[in-house]
Amino acid sequence: MNTLKRIDPRRPFTITAEGLKRITLGMTADLAGSLDPMGAAPGTVHREQVKMRRTTAAPQRVLLVAAHADRGALDDHARQVLAGAALIADALTEVVLLVFGEFTGDAAALGADKLIELPMFDRRRFAPLDELNALAACVAAYAPAHIFLPDNATGDGDLGRRYAAAARASVATHVVEIDTAHVASYVRANTAFAVRALPDVVLLAPNTVEPKLPFVGAGERVVWRFDGASAGAGVSGGENTVRDLGIEEIDAAQLALEEADFIVSAGNGVSDVPAFERLATTLGAAIGASRVAVDDGKFTRDKQIGATGKTVEASVYIAFGISGAVQHLQGIKDCRHVIAVNLDASAPIAKRANLTVIADARETIAALNEAAAAARNARGTGAALLNSSAVAEGALA
Ligand SMILES: Cc1cc2nc3c(=O)[nH]c(=O)nc-3n(C[C@H](O)[C@H](O)[C@H](O)COP(=O)(O)OP(=O)(O)OC[C@H]3O[C@@H](n4cnc5c(N)ncnc54)[C@H](O)[C@@H]3O)c2cc1C
Repeated sequence: MNTLKRIDPRRPFTITAEGLKRITLGMTADLAGSLDPMGAAPGTVHREQVKMRRTTAAPQRVLLVAAHADRGALDDHARQVLAGAALIADALTEVVLLVFGEFTGDAAALGADKLIELPMFDRRRFAPLDELNALAACVAAYAPAHIFLPDNATGDGDLGRRYAAAARASVATHVVEIDTAHVASYVRANTAFAVRALPDVVLLAPNTVEPKLPFVGAGERVVWRFDGASAGAGVSGGENTVRDLGIEEIDAAQLALEEADFIVSAGNGVSDVPAFERLATTLGAAIGASRVAVDDGKFTRDKQIGATGKTVEASVYIAFGISGAVQHLQGIKDCRHVIAVNLDASAPIAKRANLTVIADARETIAALNEAAAAARNARGTGAALLNSSAVAEGALA
């Protein structure tokens, strides 16, 4: 069980005169509400906006969204697909979300009216035919008008195509435009735009839909038992000839920065480069750097992140001693959680960061290295303490 203490993303905060977000530690949302935003409290007290339910009518039609979870959450692409389905659903249509893997997120906030979680599936396990059977069984149970999946290379795109082929369903892939009646994709090496009526299976390209919704879904959790053998009527995935050879872990340092999910990055404020590199190894994170750190010869040019370096999309990006110049921020615009460690609370990176630690980079890196060594000794294993961004991300979720 995950016993990590999670930070409430809706915890109260105030905005300082410089426009910086300051978390009000130890204060509950209720207490924050009692502060008078018109006068008594410094700055503006954040209140959660209450969103209306999209529909409360009895459903007559279903749109099904299927996606794999990543460490208990849906990634941005999957959220966009779910939002797309919710946006084109009318008042008599319910949006059912089928999640492969454990899901601990807020399905209602993402626009789902019903949530079916299949925790026995895991993105790290390759079981395409079992997943096909599960999807087919869900389709048989709910008879959705359309099925939506993210068109990605991490399982959902494959599952959608596999289902469409097995069920002889109509399908549109790489969809970049969608409304209630039609979908569209670029074809012929992006020289033409193909438009068609909404097919049975819609595979949406990333960034087609804005995932922030003005409403919420009902978010009802459905207990649905899938026994592994109950394939949907008329859909056969064929013999299970797939053998899962497992996932080969590679050294994070060998990973292309563009593909890294967890990056620690050093700027001009990092003086102890060997300690920084040791931390990256311990955390299982890839190494990035600002242009100044690269120009200084501390890191090779391929580590530079920013306008004239690499653009990265990590779930967690920790910036040690980086000011956050506009050219650097350009390279991290798609990162999910940014943590900054900086002596200067007014550095531009603090505005971009989800969490800013006002501290010396050298001391923080040393403390993290020590904490990692202590945790490793306590566990009595030689394994890396944090082998992925999961822990850092868990702390921020
Ligand atoms: C055309 C052009 C393209 C560019 N492209 C890029 C690019 O691709 N990538 C890029 O990064 N930059 C790029 N730059 C450079 C960019 O403008 C900044 O100069 C650079 O990003 C600054 O790097 P830095 O934040 O590491 O250094 P600095 O600006 O020197 O900032 C260092 C930061 O570390 C903090 N600090 C200092 N000591 C400590 C300590 N002991 N502990 C904690 N914090 C400390 C400081 O408060 C400061 O915020 C480009 C510039 C131009 C003009």
